Amino acid sequence: MFLMILGAPGSGKGTQGKLLADHLAIPQVSTGEVLRAAVTDGTPLGREAKGYMDQGLLVPDAVILGLIREILDSEGAEGGVLMDGFPRTVAQAEAVDRLLAERGARVDRVVLLEVPEEELVQRLLGRAAKEGRSDDNLQSIRQRLTVYLEQTAPLVAYYERQGVVRRVPGQGTVAEIAARARDAARA
Ligand code: ADP
Repeated sequence: MFLMILGAPGSGKGTQGKLLADHLAIPQVSTGEVLRAAVTDGTPLGREAKGYMDQGLLVPDAVILGLIREILDSEGAEGGVLMDGFPRTVAQAEAVDRLLAERGARVDRVVLLEVPEEELVQRLLGRAAKEGRSDDNLQSIRQRLTVYLEQTAPLVAYYERQGVVRRVPGQGTVAEIAARARDAARA
């Protein structure tokens, strides 16, 4: 099963993605985590991505698509993958549709985590205090929310046309939301 978790920054994609992937016994891939690891390791990918990430901008599609191709070709990904933080643009979604079609697969489900904007900002500022992620400052948070609305939210319409979107209210306890996400992945 190829499943995407879509939602604004701070909507809980990472937390819920991990739980849902474990439940479905498929690997979880977070493009954000892969990029952060590359930045920490100082690889060419990391050096290219860091400036965009710190400013709250998207890393260019061409860079991300190379990454996704590698992920889809990696061992363990044949039977399915849960992607969190990807796709972020319609161009990325079209590209992954092509890559999956070449492999005889398709996006089976998109779980959309919905959280009101005021709560997103609060959560991200809280995370900034706890984890110290360099893009969790107010300016980058605002920028990421703007980028989400402009570039990622249009993906919902793209996937609605494919009939694969399931909306999940993203407020409540982690366990409550996880139960909703499991139902949404099945339905
Ligand atoms: P958040 O959703 O909280 O912003 P992520 O870990 O998903 O956290 O992403 C962090 C940053 O990594 C983004 O602001 C962006 O710069 C970069 N990034 C992650 N995934 C993608 C992607 N699919 N396309 C472009 N940039 C990405």
